[in-house]
Amino acid sequence: MKFEDYHINPAIKKSLEKLGFKKPTDIQFKAIPPILKGEDVLAIAQTGTGKTAAFAIPVLHMLHERKQYARQDGIKCLVMVPTRELAIQITEVFQTLGKHTRVNTLTVYGGVEQAPQISKLEDGVDILVATPGRMFDLVSQGHIRLERVEVLILDEADHMLDLGFIKDIRDVLRHLPRKRQTLFFSATINEYIKDLAYSLVTKPIRIQISPKDPVSKNVDHSVAYIGMDDKRFFLERVIKENEGSKILVFVRTKVRAERVHAAMERVEIKADTLHGDKDQKDRLTALNRFKKGEVKVLIATDVSSRGIDIPSVEYVVNYDLPDVPENYVHRVGRTGRGTQKGKSVSFCSPEEKPILDEIEKYLGKPIKVLDIEKQDYTATIDFSAEVKPDLKSLMKEIHDFEEATKKKKKPKKK
Ligand code: ADP
Ligand code: MG
Repeated sequence: MKFEDYHINPAIKKSLEKLGFKKPTDIQFKAIPPILKGEDVLAIAQTGTGKTAAFAIPVLHMLHERKQYARQDGIKCLVMVPTRELAIQITEVFQTLGKHTRVNTLTVYGGVEQAPQISKLEDGVDILVATPGRMFDLVSQGHIRLERVEVLILDEADHMLDLGFIKDIRDVLRHLPRKRQTLFFSATINEYIKDLAYSLVTKPIRIQISPKDPVSKNVDHSVAYIGMDDKRFFLERVIKENEGSKILVFVRTKVRAERVHAAMERVEIKADTLHGDKDQKDRLTALNRFKKGEVKVLIATDVSSRGIDIPSVEYVVNYDLPDVPENYVHRVGRTGRGTQKGKSVSFCSPEEKPILDEIEKYLGKPIKVLDIEKQDYTATIDFSAEVKPDLKSLMKEIHDFEEATKKKKKPKKK
């Protein structure tokens, strides 16, 4: 079935055509009809399979049709997402698909001033895409009223219902009408969260596509055993062997992101970092430069592991393994999106082996191992451009040290 055969408003079809979306993806095919019927939906489908449009298309259709008859003020649809970058991205999807409709979409997120967001809210908004913290602040200050919300969407639903967010979500839920449509979307979910999701809705939820293998079939992923201190040489090699490719590198902490960045700079590899310690402006600049391909290497923490849709990321490198097993699925899912193919390699040090075991248990199967022969392993380290500058800087250090001790040894004037 093609989009042109759907009973969706021509205003939306026009945008779909412009985007080159001819046929719905599997999840869109399965989720759009029940959403249009007003049912609650829990939809699980692999990364990069078009979940955003799966909820955006029917919601835009419903709100647009209703707006033709009555102009009711107030937010009709609330979309909650875990990160600011994802809030912006999803807002753009709604705005692009809804360009020819009467429906308008706004986003609010933390890390930037509240005032401009408040003044835009006052102009009237149909669909609000928000991160929980800022959302909670604006609601409790009375700037956002939610009593007219008809549809609530939790994207990355399992994460939104998990420990870090559930309190804010519950607080926001208290402000929503009881009678509403609720949609949960994610690539991963566990039984506990599934039960929690069920408890938040009154009507039974339809479960959609739930693939056996949570890793997208478009991603060729493997693991390489590499000592902690050698990881930087292997990253250098991956980057230099894939020159011109967009490579997303995941590390465990903000500090490590900066450290790996410094190591890459030493070998003249241009990269950017993206993590929670950067201010919002710098986060967006880094992401945009990576999107445009101005910088080919982005070193990020898990803040960018979920939902971010950057076309043509060829490679995901797990420089460190993720602490949370499902984040493995999300991280490697930043490549191989839509119909594209992608590659991923994870660097596993001996101390990370238990984490790898957890991930494989979660996936229900082992990850392909990249065999690196001893010879090749040492060659990778020798190959590093770091060796030469390091020797130079070592000589300089010795020189400086000698100079300093010479000065100290000089008898002090009395
Ligand atoms: P998910 O949320 O499932 O990870 P996204 O909604 O971010 O995936 O979509 C992944 C990519 O697929 C996006 O770049 C999007 O533009 C593209 N896409 C979505 N639906 C279609 C479609 N029906 N036809 C072609 N491309 C699509
Ligand atoms: Mg998504």
